[in-house]
Amino acid sequence: LDATAEHLSAAEREIEKVLRPGDFADFSGQPGVVENLRVFVQAARLRGESLDHVLLHGPPGLGKTTLSHIIANEMGVNIRITSGPVLDKPGDLAGLLTNLEPNDVLFIDEIHRLSPVVEEYLYSAMEDFRIDIMIETGPNARSVQIQLSPFTLVGATTRSGLLTAPLRSRFGINARLSYYDAATLEKIIMRSCGILKVDISPDAASEIARRSRGTPRIANLLLRRVRDFAQIKGNGSIDLKIAQFALSALLVDKNGLDEMDNRILATIIDKFRGGPVGLTTIATAVGEDPGTIEEVYEPFLIQEGYLMRTPRGREATPMAYSHLGKIKPGNQAE
Ligand code: ADP
Repeated sequence: LDATAEHLSAAEREIEKVLRPGDFADFSGQPGVVENLRVFVQAARLRGESLDHVLLHGPPGLGKTTLSHIIANEMGVNIRITSGPVLDKPGDLAGLLTNLEPNDVLFIDEIHRLSPVVEEYLYSAMEDFRIDIMIETGPNARSVQIQLSPFTLVGATTRSGLLTAPLRSRFGINARLSYYDAATLEKIIMRSCGILKVDISPDAASEIARRSRGTPRIANLLLRRVRDFAQIKGNGSIDLKIAQFALSALLVDKNGLDEMDNRILATIIDKFRGGPVGLTTIATAVGEDPGTIEEVYEPFLIQEGYLMRTPRGREATPMAYSHLGKIKPGNQAE
């Protein structure tokens, strides 16, 4: 149950599009962020200007891509979508930028993974809506300045700490998305059920919501899996019993931790005496990429109180011990 979009199948991506809210009114949660964005969008529209550049950060699956679409939609402009790792050469970026119409949105996902040359190139584009491109090669090579239409760069990142200071300072609007509470996720699940024409009881929706790691993408993924169980093992509609059955079959436990969450905690406790232990050591032991642990698993485990980050490494909390039914070793003589 990886919340990163990279691992979604083509069919799952299609469903994500169908389930994606199209405007602010349809987007649940993140009240502070949404209220501010509404004001900024409205003000930019009144002035007939492009919206300031927006940086969205937070764990995967919380709605960064969705919000960038909503911003474009509410601004009444087009959106172009790309991502940091895809923009290999300054020329790739130049191609995108020169094709933008006034006030369009350019969405760059994983903006922390831009190559330094491309990033540098972006600076003048963001600041002055200008780029320099090299024409011809060899002795005739010269750079020509091109004026761009004013545009809005929306950058999304799961790792805002990896953004360079010059890039960060060029965003006028900076918004951090946080994990969703269960009530909001329940609303999102009910909305998705309406769109997918799935019959679900409120207690089943609330059970899935509680066990979705605070993440709309996971809520929607779980909903679809639970729907499969309801179809095959039940009568097609989702009630609490079938939801609970399906969720345990999917290895999502009662507190909403998935298999990898539990493996990380069990590893720290069993192999490293509860920590502190370094991130890369944990990653090797559980067979997962350190970046994924840091971006996807750790923030949730920390927020929920299972894990602590200390200067000496990661430590399992007493809650992690009791969750896994393990006894924390007493303070032994040093
Ligand atoms: P991110 O870009 O942060 O990884 P996305 O914007 O792609 O996340 O969202 C993942 C999925 O979760 C989308 O299909 C979208 O339908 C759903 N989603 C995200 N946020 C919300 C929300 N606030 N309300 C309803 N659905 C949401």
